[in-house]
This record gives sequence, structure tokens and C-alpha cells, in this order.
Amino acid sequence: MNKMISSLLFLVCGFACFAQNSQKNSIQARVAEYAYYDLKADMSGLTDDEKQLIPIFVKIADIMDQLFWKQTYGDPADAKKIKDTYARDFFMINYGPWDRLDDNQPFLKDVGPKPDMCNYYPQDITPEEYSTYDDPNKGSLYTVLRRDEEGKLKTVWYRDEYKDEITQVCALLDQAINIAKDPGMKNYLMERKKAFETDEYYDSDIAWMDMKNSNIDFVVGPIENYDDKLNEAKASYEAFILVRDQERSNELSKFIQMLPEIQKIIPCDPKYKTFVPGTSSDLNVYNVVYYAGDCNAGGKTIAINLPNDDRVQAVKGARRLQLRNSMQAKFDKIMLPISKVLIAPEQQQHVNFDAFFWNVTFHEVAHGLGVKETVNGRGSVDDALMTEKTSWEEAKADILGLFIVCHLIEQGEITNITMEDAVTTFIAGIFRSVRFGAADSHGTANMMCFNYLKKMGAFSRGEDGYYRVNYKNALPAIKSWCSKILMVQGEGNYKLAIKLKGELGFIGAELQRDLDRVNEAKIPRDIRFNQGLKVMGL
Ligand SMILES: [Zn+2]
Repeated sequence: MNKMISSLLFLVCGFACFAQNSQKNSIQARVAEYAYYDLKADMSGLTDDEKQLIPIFVKIADIMDQLFWKQTYGDPADAKKIKDTYARDFFMINYGPWDRLDDNQPFLKDVGPKPDMCNYYPQDITPEEYSTYDDPNKGSLYTVLRRDEEGKLKTVWYRDEYKDEITQVCALLDQAINIAKDPGMKNYLMERKKAFETDEYYDSDIAWMDMKNSNIDFVVGPIENYDDKLNEAKASYEAFILVRDQERSNELSKFIQMLPEIQKIIPCDPKYKTFVPGTSSDLNVYNVVYYAGDCNAGGKTIAINLPNDDRVQAVKGARRLQLRNSMQAKFDKIMLPISKVLIAPEQQQHVNFDAFFWNVTFHEVAHGLGVKETVNGRGSVDDALMTEKTSWEEAKADILGLFIVCHLIEQGEITNITMEDAVTTFIAGIFRSVRFGAADSHGTANMMCFNYLKKMGAFSRGEDGYYRVNYKNALPAIKSWCSKILMVQGEGNYKLAIKLKGELGFIGAELQRDLDRVNEAKIPRDIRFNQGLKVMGL
């Protein structure tokens, strides 16, 4: 192994002798916080060639996994040096000895903090050295920085740094290109292969946007840049293998066609809803059958929104993939157990997965509705609300999404859940979201909504410690919160945004005690997967 990228583990000594008993127990508990879930999907709609592609995609995904290990930590074989089985397991879950759900705190004795630079940069680089280093490609998503023989910084393209792995990936892609029959998929795979070889992903992102008819999808490559804490500049390798849920995707596209009509009935002053939403939104439902690399580390995503390249977005827009089975996993393993603690027994029947799925999906849809420009010349809503823009946009998407779900139920368009289901599941969803605090903008949005709806009598907390929805009051309260948010956004009223956040955007003492009860109930925090061809049934 290249000395430059040798395991970060070797930077710390005394690694093998680790973990006091108490620490060990806590690691066992932290492993248990990841609930197992089998990743599978209905494969009966796939064509023969698609079924042949999946095993090849799995091989490529496994290479993405190895590459991500190299990028974020070093050699996964270091796990063998860890004697304790739970610690070893936790090391694999986190792709290294730092707890990703706990702000990357080290969980092995004598391991220091996670280096901001991971392996994207030399370990001894300083921000000053980086900023004075003169190379136009130093900030590229697809380069690493290394030191030359004389110790000076040099820039190395991913295609060279990871040459062996990329060569294998391209050989596998050649096999896949020969098998693929769908022209969109074939073209995407050809363009993606070129991208791996050249580190220029634009054409392959365009090809991915143009792939409309394939029953399967393969998101693969260096994609997100959050793992690089030094500059958020370097892309991490990952892969998702996905099977499209055709029936639900069709249903969703029918609803998207209705958006201009829905925009007209959203509850707010007419002057805030003059904007006409697009109907070309590319929102589809998938089941994931394989996660690898970055997306498999720590907490798991339940939706994909790509591509990140603004140039591609300007030409083609973006695609949103709702990952239904991962949502189901989080619902079954986390949300349902939470609602058993906090939702009144007689209303628990109204907490169900279909309602959760519609609420989460229409949250996304609702981002595209409402108001974008202020009505009083303060420019865009984002510009006017400045630091508060994200909380209010998330608050809008939450409540407007719920309003749309209720509306579609009323219209007989959504038939598999009731309004009671939508609202009760929505409240239970807030408990899930703010369980570990509400410091970020989405947490603030959740708490503003929770406290507002409670104030309006949409639900109450009983002496028995359970929350009960008052279904008579719920819809008026939802409408009233919608109209308040759209007013703040439409007026671009920054002062009012701050004032309302102060009044509503916090976890009160009573709720905090209830959330403490949830956390004492040892309910999982996230999910991990049993996955592979066997689990898929291939
Ligand atoms: Zn959102």
C-alpha cells in the first residue's frame, strides 16, 4: 500500500489494547442501535438482461465500498486487529473507529478525533498550506492531494490514485454495457465508464437524467462531498442499486400533474400563491437492493436527490428518488416503537407506513409549491429571510405536504389511508425527528409546527403521558399554520420569522421528559442492512 494513504489507524498507537468494560458495554448498546433490515424488492417486473446486470452492479458496488474505505479511513482489514466483536462490528458500520451518529467521536481507546482531511489530503496539511498551494485542480471533486518526493503538495486525479480499482470497474462496466438492452441504461453505463476513466462526470450525469424507461437504476461513482471536513471538496465513492416501483411512481406522477390546481387551493392569502408550479418534476419511487460506500456509512438516507452538478441541473433539472423500503425500515424499526411510547393506545392504529410514505413524499412535492418571490419587492424569499430561510422552507414543506395529503384523501385521490392516519402519523413523525434535539433548521421547523398545532388544540398531552390528536381541530390548525408560514415567506418578514422562531421553535420541558422516555426505551437510532444477491432472491 502506498505509504501516503496507509491506514489512519497506524497514526495512533496502543490501538489493540482497548476498551474498558464500561466502554465495551456502551459499544454493544451502540451496535444494537442499528436495527437490521433485509434489502429486497419485487423483481418480477425486471427483464432478463436487467436481472443479469444486478450481479455485475453488486461487484462494482463492492469496489465502491473498498474505495470509500480508502478515502475515509484506510484499510478495512484493520478490523481484524480489534478483539472485541461489538467494537469490530461498530468499526465496520462506521467505516472506521469514529461514531458517525455521535459527531464522529472516537469509540476505541487511544484513537484521536477523526482527521478532517480523511485520506483526501496528506495528514499533515494545514489550511494555510492548502490555501497557498497554487494548482487549479486542487479543489476538484475528483482529485486527492499528496506529497511528492520532496514533500511538496501535488494533485492526483482519482483515475490515477485509484487506478487498479477503476480498471476493474471499467472491465465490469464493459460486461454490463454488452448485456444492457434498454438504450437509456446502455448509454448511461457507457458514459459512466468514460467518466471513471477521465474524471469528467458531466456527460454521464446528463445520460442519467435521460434514462427514463429502465426498471432498475444504478447510482454509482464519487458523488457527495460531506466526508471531506477540511474543505467539503472531495467526492466520496458510493453506489445504490435500485428497482423502480412502477405502480407507485405512476401514481405519484398523476399527483404531480395536479400541482397547478393544488397550488390554487393552498390555504393562504391569494397574493402569496401567484407562482405556477412546474409539472415536470422527476419524482419516482424505488426500492433499494444494495447500499455501498459513503451512503452505507452510519445513518442511512431514505431519498436521493441528484445530480449535484449545477450545470446539469440547469439543463435537465434533477431527479428525486424516494427509497420506499428504506423508509419502511425506518418506520418499522424506529417510528412505530416511538409512537407506542407516546401516542395514545386507541390512536396507534392511525400510525401506519402508508401515511408516513405519503407525508414524506409530499414534503418533497411541497417544496415546489407556495411562494418563491416576496410580494413587496424584498426579492426572493431566500434572500429576504436570510439565516431563517431554511427553517421556514422546511416548515412550509412539512405542513403544506400534510395539507396536500389531507386534500387528496378528501378528493378520493389517495385511498389507502384516512385523514386520521395522515395527521396522527405526522405527529409521531415529529417525535422521531426531534428525538435527539432540534438544533438544526429542520428540527426548529418541526418544533415550530409541533408547538403551534398544540397551541391550536390539534392535539394534547394527557395525564397518562400519551398524546392524542383532536381530529376536529386538526385540519383548521394545519390550514392556519400553512397560511402563517406563507405570509412570513411572502412578506419576506425576517423580524417576524425570528420572533415566531423564538416563541415556537424549541423543545419544551414536558416534551423533553417524554423524549427522554423514548430514549430510555432503547429504540434503534438507525438501520443497517442484510443485503446481497441471496437476500434479493437472485
Ligand atoms: Zn425538505
